[in-house]
Parts: sequence; C-alpha cells; structure tokens
Amino acid sequence: MTQFTLIPACSAAIPTDPFIGQHLIDGAWVGSADGAVFERHSPAHGDLVSRSARGGKDDTARAIAAARHAFDAGDWASSQGAARARILLKTADLIDENRERIAVLETLESGKPIAQARAEIEGAADLWRYAAALARTLHGDSHNSLGPDMLGMVLKEPVGVVSLITPWNFPFLIISQKLPFALAAGCTAVVKPSEMTPSTTVILGQLLQQAGLPDGVVNIVLGYGDPVGALMTGDERVDMVSFTGSTAVGKQIVRTAAGTLKKVSLELGGKNPQVIFPDADLEATADAIVFGVYFNAGECCNSGSRIIVHEDVATALTEMVVEMSRKVPFGDPLDPRTKVGAIISPEHQAKIAAYVGDAETAGAQVVLGGEPLAIDGLAGQFYAPTILTGVTPDMAIATEEVFGPVLSVLTFRTMDEAISLANSASYGLSAGIWSRDVHTCLEFSRKVRAGTVWTNTWMDGFAEMPFGGVKQSGQGRELGRYGIEEFLEVKSVQMRIGDTRPRWVA
Ligand code: NAD
Repeated sequence: MTQFTLIPACSAAIPTDPFIGQHLIDGAWVGSADGAVFERHSPAHGDLVSRSARGGKDDTARAIAAARHAFDAGDWASSQGAARARILLKTADLIDENRERIAVLETLESGKPIAQARAEIEGAADLWRYAAALARTLHGDSHNSLGPDMLGMVLKEPVGVVSLITPWNFPFLIISQKLPFALAAGCTAVVKPSEMTPSTTVILGQLLQQAGLPDGVVNIVLGYGDPVGALMTGDERVDMVSFTGSTAVGKQIVRTAAGTLKKVSLELGGKNPQVIFPDADLEATADAIVFGVYFNAGECCNSGSRIIVHEDVATALTEMVVEMSRKVPFGDPLDPRTKVGAIISPEHQAKIAAYVGDAETAGAQVVLGGEPLAIDGLAGQFYAPTILTGVTPDMAIATEEVFGPVLSVLTFRTMDEAISLANSASYGLSAGIWSRDVHTCLEFSRKVRAGTVWTNTWMDGFAEMPFGGVKQSGQGRELGRYGIEEFLEVKSVQMRIGDTRPRWVA
C-alpha cells in the first residue's frame, strides 16, 4: 500500500534574483543604518528567496519617531472615516491586482502550498474591505439622561502609535488582521514581520503608498525580535503593542511593555481539542480532523492537533483518519495540487521530531508517519503526516503546541471527562465539538474554555466574527467590530449646559 501521497518538485520557475526588502520609514525605502542584511531561503526548495535590510536600534528608533510624528500631527487621526476607508479600499483592490506576485513570494518564503497562499491573499483583501466599512461606521455614544443641564458624550479615539509584530505562519493574512483595523481607527503604526517571512509585508507597504497613504502613517522595520521587536515593545513613544506569535514571546512582550504600561493585545499559541461523540457523522469528522491537523503543515495556531474521541468510536474514527491522511498530497508547494508543503526550518523540524520521540518514549504509539519525508527534487524539509494513539493527558504532546502535522488521539467516556480533558491544557484558543445532538454541542460550547468553538466544523473564519484566545492563548480580540475596538480609547466628555453648576464655595 502507498504509505503517503507525495508531490515531487514541479516545473514552476523560482525567480533567479532574490527579492530585496528595505525598511519603510517616513515614506522612504531605506537600508539599515549599519548596512546589515539577512537572507531567507525557501524551506521547500533551498533556493535564496530574499535579502532584507536587518534592522537595528537606529532604524527602529527612526521608524517609531516617524509614526509618533505622523500621529501627533493629527492629520491622519482626525481625518474623516470616509477618507481612511477610501485608502483601505484602494489597498484591497491593489492586493487583488498583485495577488499572484504576493502568493508566490509567500509560498517561497514560508513553504505553504500556492493554492492556499492565493486563498489567503484573497481573504486578506476582504479584511481590508471589512475594515474600510468599520472606518465609516465608527462612532461613540451619548447620554442625554444625566439631568436637564448635562450632556455626556463617549468619544472613541485612536490609541495612538501601535507596534504590530507578526509571525511567519500566515504573514500577509495576520498583518491584515491588524493593520487595516488600526488604520481604520486612526492609529499610526510600526510593523515588524517575522525574519522568516519579511517580503510580502514589504509589498503591502508599497501598495499602501500606491493607495495614497500619507508618509509616516505606516512604517516597516525588517529584522529580528531582538533588537527590533523588543525596542518596538519597550519604547515610550509607542502606545500599544499588538502581537501574534508564541506564548513564550508573548510573555516577554508583556514584561517589556510593563515598563511603560502600554496596552498589549496578544494572539498566541493553542493546543486545540476536538471532541467527538459517537453520534457524530464520522466521515465528515474525519475529513475535518485531517484538514485541521495538516493544514499549513500543522504550523497553525488553530491546529486541531488533539482529538478527544469517545471510546465506542475511537478505533473506527482513527482508522478513517489514517486512511485519509495517506491521501493528502504533501510536497512541492509550488504545485497547485499540493495541500501540505514544507516545515519552516530544519530547527523546527527537529523540534517536531523530538515531541514525537518523547511521546513514544512515554508510551504513545505512532500509527502513521513519525518521520521526516524525502520528496523527489526538493532540498528542503518535510515531515510525514503523523498520528499518535494511546496519548495520555500527562504527556507533553497532549498539552503543548507541536506546530507540525502531528495528531494526538485521546479517548473519553463521559461529557465531564471530555470537558476536563479539553480544558486540561494551559491554552484556550479554539475547540471543536462533533455530535448530532444540539444539547451536547451547546453544553460543550459553554463549558469549554476557548476563544472560539466550532460545532460540527473546523477552522471556518469570517471577517465579521471575533477571534482570540483565553488563558495562555492571549488577550484581546481581532476581527469583527472587536478588531477595531482594540485600537480605540474611550474618552468620557461631560458637558454642562449654561451656568448651572452648583457652587462649592458659597
Ligand atoms: P515567535 O513568537 O517566535 O515570533 C513572532 C514574532 O515576534 C516575530 O516577528 C519575531 O521576530 C518577534 N519576536 C521574537 N522575540 C521578540 C521579542 N523579545 N520582542 C518582540 N518581538 C519578538 O512566533 P513564530 O514562531 O513566528 O510563530 C509561531 C507562533 O505564533 C505559534 O506559537 C503560533 O501558535 C502563534 N500564532 C498565533 C496566532 C493567533 O492568532 N493566536 C496566529 C498565528 C500564529
């Protein structure tokens, strides 16, 4: 029997010249003050993809100064919502026009399949359009029942200068979950993409300029968490940090931001459980499990990497998942047939392998995969679809984020046990419930501690629906109306009409 479905290197051409990335500071594209650069090679093909300016202290300080100046000048913050919306809409159109260019670069830097990258860029454009609508409908509140001589107004004002720090797994989509919402609110920004995937954020900066965004409103610094991200977090001139990434770095950000008590919004890791009851449609469930665990090679905060299945159907469901896993095309991300591409780096591949090895040592059984994959004609790193049974709650693989195509199977007998297992990780990003019984679905949805619950589905996403985590998966929300609220402060204005204030000194 064929163990896996592998897609060898395809004939799609990889650009011979690397993409050159520079910082965007106050409307100018510039190299680093000290001339430093860093390079990114394709994790699937090994070829050089990009060479970027490597930001340091001076570059970051200049970018923050530019954002601060642009905010304090007031033109952007106090501009009409309709004017901001026009720029966001134009940016969305430009993203559509440049979709292929962005998608190819995203695939080359991240190793994700090209078909998925195209869909993500399309989804990102939708977020810019949604945020444009929010820019026009943004409003505060008023109170006219405070007495005959009083009027109360609740004004929504932009937070100020925001630092936006993003990870490598969905580079263009995640910056599009933050930046258009910040801009719609009237904030100015300093953006730092991951050092693994800097280039598509550079293209976004170019498109924003084409769309007519004033200089200094968005600044981009390329480089590493240390020093760029840390400086963007600690600097007094920054009012808020919105971060997506690992829980470990999220905690570091909170510590650094505490020095100036700035607002922090965090979208962090997850160890997301899917609970399957015996009355579920097992075929539909198995397909969603396979999607949930292998999508983006499992390098996904929402990876459904932990299934908690009722004992009565555990064997049948696991067999279905194993068989479907064999059919998922792993391989060259530039081939449109590929559904799972490369692992982001050799170091990350080694981390995934170590988790699987430790689980085996602890007594779990590898029923599929559990090893790196060699793909014809590709020099990069790939990991096999991997399924572990016999996983118990005390194993690290049951509660820690593996961030690879690795599924852990746990079993339960009662609803209480299922909920207790689902809530046993320190994370609380998303969770799923599979059952035809609405009471079962509702009970689980209410008792599970997660920011998102999917019922008889997995990983649907809508611009209208808020997204974020509880527990150590983060704080704050993106998307929906909540996505703009994060970037707003509330000001209470209390106005007395006429000379009606009772005197304090007689
Ligand atoms: P990471 O935490 O290593 O890096 C994220 C970003 O932070 C990068 O730009 C990095 O350069 C920067 N950074 C590193 N150290 C920093 C510091 N001290 N100060 C400021 N910035 C610093 O994460 P990653 O490996 O790029 O991404 C994977 C992680 O992101 C996973 O844990 C995943 O679950 C999480 N993630 C969460 C969501 C969500 O919405 N909840 C979405 C995607 C990814």
